[in-house]
Amino acid sequence: MGRRICDLRRHLRGLIPLMLVPVAFAQQPHQHGVVALNVAIDQRVLFIELITPLHDAAGFEHWPPGDEGEQAALDRAVGVMSDPHSVFSIPAAAKCKLKEVDVKLPGDISAAGDDFSAEPTAPDPEGEAHVDLTILYRFKCKAPANLAQIRVHLFRLFPDLQSIQANLITDTEQNFQDLSFAEPVIFIAR
Ligand SMILES: [Zn+2]
Repeated sequence: MGRRICDLRRHLRGLIPLMLVPVAFAQQPHQHGVVALNVAIDQRVLFIELITPLHDAAGFEHWPPGDEGEQAALDRAVGVMSDPHSVFSIPAAAKCKLKEVDVKLPGDISAAGDDFSAEPTAPDPEGEAHVDLTILYRFKCKAPANLAQIRVHLFRLFPDLQSIQANLITDTEQNFQDLSFAEPVIFIAR
């Protein structure tokens, strides 16, 4: 994952300091039921970083999985989220092709010098350790001007989810969007 973040930095340069704000925020104890999406569009490249509490994706939150049932639940969640077509609807007119999916499990070892820690976050005041699951998707789009919205299917996939908070960065705008059950769509000014 460290390498991926380096790739992000290389691709996005000036945009990346903004992009990393919510990532750093995600290192704080997260809130259950809340998924963070960092979306960046740089010319023809579309990056989406999905950060979910492990609890919301797999129904448990500690690392490693404690038994076969938890392992199966984790595998199921990773399997679903590894297929971007299950998670997102991207306008066909934008002609985006998936180039890469990178799943970062909580137990992954960070590369030396990586400032993106894979360790579980600090316990909350009640002493509970929090664990995130992070997935990075990279697309290449032939017609990015048509990338006017991205519909997100996470409410359907994870019924316990209460909120999807998207942080959007393009070369012309940066904003936060709180996606609703009724219209779980990220709108992009083009
Ligand atoms: Zn948690």
